[in-house]
Amino acid sequence: MKKYERRQMAVLKTVTKKALFLIGILCFVLCVIHLVNRVKILENQIEKLSVEQVFAQAKTDEETFDNTTITPETQPPESQSTETQISETQPSETEILQTESTSQTSPEETSIGEEENQKIVYLTFDDGPSSNTNAILDILKEYNVKATFFVNGKTDEVSKAGYKRIVEEGHTLAMHSYTHVYKEVYASKEAFLEDVYRLQNYLFDLTGTKPIYYRFPGGSSNTISEMDMQVFIQALHEEGMEYFDWNVANGDGANKELTTDQILTNVWNDIPKYEHSMILMHDSVQKGFTVEALPEMIKQLQEAGYTILPIDDTTPLIQHIRDNSIEDNPQ
Ligand SMILES: [Zn+2]
Repeated sequence: MKKYERRQMAVLKTVTKKALFLIGILCFVLCVIHLVNRVKILENQIEKLSVEQVFAQAKTDEETFDNTTITPETQPPESQSTETQISETQPSETEILQTESTSQTSPEETSIGEEENQKIVYLTFDDGPSSNTNAILDILKEYNVKATFFVNGKTDEVSKAGYKRIVEEGHTLAMHSYTHVYKEVYASKEAFLEDVYRLQNYLFDLTGTKPIYYRFPGGSSNTISEMDMQVFIQALHEEGMEYFDWNVANGDGANKELTTDQILTNVWNDIPKYEHSMILMHDSVQKGFTVEALPEMIKQLQEAGYTILPIDDTTPLIQHIRDNSIEDNPQ
């Protein structure tokens, strides 16, 4: 019995070995077939991809060509925006309501009608005058550019000379509240108008001109005023005055120094979006870096074909809070 069993075991072993060997060969063959198929599929995909790439490249070339008319060459590469402002925050894109006389156009439309649509930039300076105002006025004179100064009430001799120079050199003198103290300016409608007339009368006495354009401290979209900003907007309109906000900021509202490159990046991030760009800057005494960046900013704007203008009665109302009474009551 043992002998028989041993023989049987030996046969079983041989059979098992052969079976395993055959299974091994079968697996190997299947693997090879599978691999060959994969290679064929990959080859097809590569062929397809290269055809698509050729098409994609052709398309990119077309777009680049179109964009050269929209995007100025001088636009710096995108870098981190430095727009965290404390006193005057840049509203998000959706908050900006641009009430322009022309209806909104898409970028394509802009590029088609570009020759007729002159692109305009308004340089605006808040919180002055200061010693920096003089430096800014020198630069504006050098480049033959007019700007708008939203000033506060200041009684020192440098500031007094600043108001006069702004008017004498053909810039727009505009108001930004006498005190710039939010709690006082926005205490009530009466307090607001008292502050407006205190500044207007002061500026009239000094310069002989009565400013009628206003920029709210913090902008019309500020979140500091406890009163509804519509109250103050209505008050201004009742007095025949108009307010302007901004749609581009150079970023100098935050309490930190910026390099010229950072300032240029900030403004070029937004300027190409608008037919009329209103740039928020500050000419207060701490903002020497804004002065430093100004010549290059003007140079780039002029080279890119932008027209720089001061605010006047023809300026589109660039406002964060759109006042609906404008349609009913044009003046
Ligand atoms: Zn201000």
